[in-house]
Amino acid sequence: MHEFSLAQTVLETIVSVAKQKDFTKIKKIILKFGAFALIQEDQFRFCFEIVQKSIKMTEKTELQIEWVPGELKCLNCNFEGKIENLPQDHNELAPIFQCPKCKSYKTEILSGTETVIDSIIV
Ligand SMILES: [Zn+2]
Repeated sequence: MHEFSLAQTVLETIVSVAKQKDFTKIKKIILKFGAFALIQEDQFRFCFEIVQKSIKMTEKTELQIEWVPGELKCLNCNFEGKIENLPQDHNELAPIFQCPKCKSYKTEILSGTETVIDSIIV
């Protein structure tokens, strides 16, 4: 499960940062997810809750998720820009995105695949 391992990685990372800086509790974390990272927010929140409860330091950490729009380049018509409507089916391992202009699938992802920890508030 993609979301579960991501939740684990995020929490392990913030715990190790907190330990380095002698923080004992983490009030809130802000994550940035790219639209093309294909993370299902509900599922991620569900997994995050399970993992956070197993760590004392993050038991009550509030989770904020900010979405970064995805940008695509079309190799067929040279369209470059943000994609607003992503396919709802996120189960594919290597999803291919359709150009909004010419409907071609010959596309390249320019940005929007990131999953980063933006800030940790203690
Ligand atoms: Zn195109």
